[in-house]
Amino acid sequence: MLTCPACTHPLYPHLARPTDDGWTHARCPCQVTGCERLAIARGYCKRHYKRAAKGATPEEMTMLTDAHIEDLEWMAANGERFEIAAARLHPPMKATTLDRALRRVGRLDLLAAFQRRGVAA
Ligand SMILES: [Zn+2]
Ligand SMILES: [Zn+2]
Repeated sequence: MLTCPACTHPLYPHLARPTDDGWTHARCPCQVTGCERLAIARGYCKRHYKRAAKGATPEEMTMLTDAHIEDLEWMAANGERFEIAAARLHPPMKATTLDRALRRVGRLDLLAAFQRRGVAA
């Protein structure tokens, strides 16, 4: 697959523009995993640029993806602790961010699969 040299994300024809170095995005997507907004500054969308400026880490900003959920289901089934599972995701998420994200998408069942094993409050 063709990737954008500026942000290394996949490059689809309708988003591409020609430059001296080949094709790049007309506007690159936000570098935060799972964020679908376009970048406005330093590779971040407006919201993540503000959060990064306030000192938010990549672990705190990473958004839940389908790949995360698949990995979490596997790790819950294998008895992994919630905090450890959050840190082992690709890219990793902060446990509190992950907890909030799972509640937002209604995956209380997945959260419970971990919490039965005793998560620090
Ligand atoms: Zn790009
Ligand atoms: Zn973003």
